[in-house]
Amino acid sequence: MLDKVVIANRGEIALRILRACHALGIRTVAVHSTVDRNLKHVAMADESVCIGPAASSESYLNMASLIAAAEVTDAQAIHPGYGFLSENADFAERVEESGFIFIGPKADTIRLMGDKVEAIKAMKAAGVPCVPGSGGPLGDDAATNIAIARDIGYPVIVKAAGGGGGRGMRVVHTEAHLSNAIATTKSEAKAAFGNDMVYMEKFLENPRHVEIQVLADGQGNAIHLGERDCSMQRRHQKVVEEAPAPGITPELRAEIGKVCVEACIRIGYRGAGTFEFLFEDGRFYFIEMNTRIQVEHPVTELVTGIDLVREQLNIAAGHTLSLKQEDIVLEGHAIECRINAEDPDTFMPCPGLIQHFHAPGGPGVRVDSHIYEGYRVPPNYDSMIGKLIVHGPDRETAIARMRVALSEMVVDGIKTNIPLQQRILADVGFQQGGQNIHYLEKRLKEQKEKTISIV
Ligand code: ADP
Repeated sequence: MLDKVVIANRGEIALRILRACHALGIRTVAVHSTVDRNLKHVAMADESVCIGPAASSESYLNMASLIAAAEVTDAQAIHPGYGFLSENADFAERVEESGFIFIGPKADTIRLMGDKVEAIKAMKAAGVPCVPGSGGPLGDDAATNIAIARDIGYPVIVKAAGGGGGRGMRVVHTEAHLSNAIATTKSEAKAAFGNDMVYMEKFLENPRHVEIQVLADGQGNAIHLGERDCSMQRRHQKVVEEAPAPGITPELRAEIGKVCVEACIRIGYRGAGTFEFLFEDGRFYFIEMNTRIQVEHPVTELVTGIDLVREQLNIAAGHTLSLKQEDIVLEGHAIECRINAEDPDTFMPCPGLIQHFHAPGGPGVRVDSHIYEGYRVPPNYDSMIGKLIVHGPDRETAIARMRVALSEMVVDGIKTNIPLQQRILADVGFQQGGQNIHYLEKRLKEQKEKTISIV
């Protein structure tokens, strides 16, 4: 087993990784910026290293500082968590070149999946169903591009090959707008991602977001752990996630899961990963693969009983996968609400001092959060301050437990999105399940119009 791990992240995921390490008897090194000295996991880690000032570019994104932290503490491995450098192939490479284990896939795999055109090509070759599209980068010839779009059928979406975070995409409804849209997306992509390569896909109008969790050891073994439904989104950001996805039959799950497992083996995948799909009219369409642990991993942990971070650590230590596909049995239903320090109506971030904190509890309730009474949420990072996750024998019970848990949770001193989560959980459409990725924004718009008309 690994002996000492550097946790190259902050907040709830840093704490989550620390807990998994300590449960395995692995010592931990917390790294933190100057404004993050008071993070909970920093106090709990065996050692801690200040890696730079508040700006992430100079701390959590500073490769040299992170590697130096591993060197001075004589650690063996670096866990990148999610966000920051977790999907940066150059970082993975530098970590390994410096003689440390990168807890994640090989740098080449990260690089492949980071280029969406190449990722789609590789997935297609592996038999993964993809959105009908250009199958490669778009050139400058307008006539050729028009022919590609006609072939796909409008509406189409022009996407940046190097895009991420829901940026660098443009929907085109008619031929008259195509050339312009391609040119604009290209120049935006160049400015934002330093790469002007764009491609085209059919724009699916009412899909759900359904993703498959996988684990692979890079030694020829891989399994899937079922799916998560993350369709409740605002501005392409997930707000509520659940497992299993409503309406996905065991047959459908087994079929798409097998395809993902085979793709993992084919590309020599190592570690935990997620195949993201749009799901429409009973069919899956691959959009991208995330080569890291995800924010919403706990819902899968609760329905499978498997600790995904523990598995990441085991794989990084070079163990072959101890789990077989038949060991994966889904039990009950799990839901996660992301808790953000933000105004529940305007969505403006709301950092500041937490004066009171009361965590909910009871059967099937899990709180993954680094906050505590007296903790000051800094303005420098993502506004997520934790995740509330519940498990129950069925979806109805899980919803009921989440509603009680949300009503118990107290975070005083700052505004949070708890009232918004309460409205979502009380919404009849959410309760029915299986809504598409536009549902939440549509409901928020309706509500806003209603409030305005009342005023
Ligand atoms: P990113 O890496 O920026 O998150 P994705 O390729 O995962 O980019 O797409 C982000 C979101 O954009 C999807 O969750 C979906 O809401 C929307 N989207 C992307 N491709 C399509 C498509 N072909 N049809 C409809 N919506 C799409």
